[in-house]
Order: sequence, then structure tokens, then C-alpha cells
Amino acid sequence: MFDFKGYKDASSIEEAVKILKDAPEAEVIAGGSDLLIELRDEPRADLLLVSLRKIEAVHQITMDEGGEIAIGSMVTFDRMEKDEFIMTHLPVLGEAGGTIGGPQLRRVATLGGNVCNGAVSGDSATPLFCYNARLEIAGPEGYRTIPVSEFYLGPGKTDLKKGEILVRILIAKKDYEGFGGNYIKFSRRKALDIANLGATALCKVKDGRFSEVRIALGVAAPVPIRCPGAENFAEGLEVTDDNMKAIGQRAVDDARPRDSWRASKAFRQQLIEVCTERALKAGADLAGK
Ligand SMILES: Cc1cc2nc3c(=O)[nH]c(=O)nc-3n(C[C@H](O)[C@H](O)[C@H](O)COP(=O)(O)OP(=O)(O)OC[C@H]3O[C@@H](n4cnc5c(N)ncnc54)[C@H](O)[C@@H]3O)c2cc1C
Repeated sequence: MFDFKGYKDASSIEEAVKILKDAPEAEVIAGGSDLLIELRDEPRADLLLVSLRKIEAVHQITMDEGGEIAIGSMVTFDRMEKDEFIMTHLPVLGEAGGTIGGPQLRRVATLGGNVCNGAVSGDSATPLFCYNARLEIAGPEGYRTIPVSEFYLGPGKTDLKKGEILVRILIAKKDYEGFGGNYIKFSRRKALDIANLGATALCKVKDGRFSEVRIALGVAAPVPIRCPGAENFAEGLEVTDDNMKAIGQRAVDDARPRDSWRASKAFRQQLIEVCTERALKAGADLAGK
């Protein structure tokens, strides 16, 4: 069914990097839920698949003494949505992961695969943008770390260079502690459908006012985006329904949606306004309005 040359389990990141360096036709496989679909459509008889599944470090979820959380790239969405630690500290990421595909898919689909696939509809993208996640990447030149906001370069195009591997997703304590948040995925069906729009809002509320607001959108531009105009506008505003509606309207100005067969630009603009407002309302409730 699948036409490729071979499959190798790497036992360490270093070994995986070496295999990728020595065999230019090699590619990383995680859960395979994007890659194998591509392979079915475009068979590659020269392809060597390098699996990370036997490398312990990429399956771990850890917190260091400074409170920074590191999620291994091979952690699945099924695991995250059931993980008490993730749901306590990064609930919006866990909940967004719970909207992906169906239960069977979430048992194989990984966070790292979702990020590296570079899809603008990837459900993990907007929570990661709001949590200011950084990506730890290993390659032939060693390790580098890049903000997730700089990783997406275009539809399906990322900053991952040939031979590089996403090892861990890092989130600092200051970027998750004290926030309330919510993810809204708008799709035609509740399951097994990709987003027409994805909206994440994170906020902190003090004395009935927004002290910090972070908003990120998926499928509202060629890559996932933050909404700096709406975020700046929101800061210091009283937490009222009218203000949250106005913040949703501002988010439309930050976005660059387009017409596609899934949804028109005008419909997406309406989704941006409404989904941002609703995600913020839910986030404000959790932040203790
Ligand atoms: C039926 C179905 C429904 C789906 N529904 C959704 C949905 O609702 N929302 C959504 O966001 N996605 C959805 N997807 C897409 C897919 O499941 C996700 O993007 C998933 O997270 C991909 O992870 P994976 O582990 O399967 O990646 P893989 O398919 O193994 O890899 C994807 C790409 O990333 C590269 N890669 C993977 N891991 C690494 C790494 N650590 N370092 C370097 N490169 C790496 C691979 O080489 C490949 O190019 C769906 C897919 C299917 C088949």
C-alpha cells in the first residue's frame, strides 16, 4: 500500500540526526497521520522513514525548577487531553488537542507532527502562539531554539531545515501562570473535520479589568497569527460584554482571511469576531472576572 524504501527506529536524537544527515532522502515519521496520507497520494520509492518512537526524551512532559514546561515532540493529543499536569497548567492546549480528528487519530497524532506539518489549520498552533511557546530543534549543527511565532513561514511551510528534528516544545512559567483561556474551533462537523477558523484567547483579569490579553487565530491568514492590535486595545479595559465584542471586532483588523472552498472571506471575518469574543468571555470567566 505504501511505497517507500525503508524504516528505521532511532534510539537517540543524535542517532536520528546522523541518519538524516547520512541519507538525504530520509524523513522523520512521528504518528504518521499526515505523512502516510501524503505518501499514499505521492509514493516515494527512495524514502527512508526515521521513527522517533523509541527515544524516551521525546515522550516526556517535564517542569524544571523555574517552572518551565517541556513537552516532548512525540507526546500524543490523546495523552495531553487526559494528562492532569497539562490540563492544570496548559488547559487550552489540552482542550485544543481534544478537538483534533477523532479518538483513534488522537492516539497516534503527536504535538510535534502537528507543528512540523505547518498547517494553518493545525489545532495546536493558536494555543502555542498564546503561550509564547519555543521550539527546541536538533540538527547537524547542534541545538537551536526558536519562538513558535517565527516557525510558520507559509501554508505547509516551516522554518525546519533539512535534517532537523523538533525535540521539545517549551513554555515558560510567566506565559501560563495566572491566565484564564479558551480555544474555539469552528468547523462544519464536531469531529473529523479541520478548522474553518481556530481562535485562542488567554487573559489575566485584575480588579475587573483586563491586565493582559493574548489572542491568536488559525486560518485567518496564510500562517497562524497573534492579534497585536486587539491585544493592545484590550489592555486595561473593563471586562464587560460590550468591550469583549469590541475586542473581537478589532481582531478582524489584525487578520488577513481569504476566500476558499471551505468558507468565504466575509464568513471568516464574522467567525473571527464572534469566536474571539466568545473565547475571551470564557477565558475571562476562568481568570476570575
Ligand atoms: C482523518 C484525519 C483527521 C485529522 N484531523 C485533524 C484536526 O482536526 N486538526 C489538526 O490539527 N490536524 C488534523 N489532522 C492532521 C494530523 O493528524 C495532525 O497534523 C497530527 O498532529 C500530525 O502528527 P503526526 O505525529 O501524525 O505527524 P506525522 O504524520 O508523523 O508527521 C507530519 C510531518 O511532520 C514531520 N515531523 C513529525 N514529527 C517531527 C519531529 N519531531 N521533528 C521533525 N519533523 C517531524 C514529518 O516528517 C512530516 O513531514 C488529521 C489527519 C487525519 C488523517
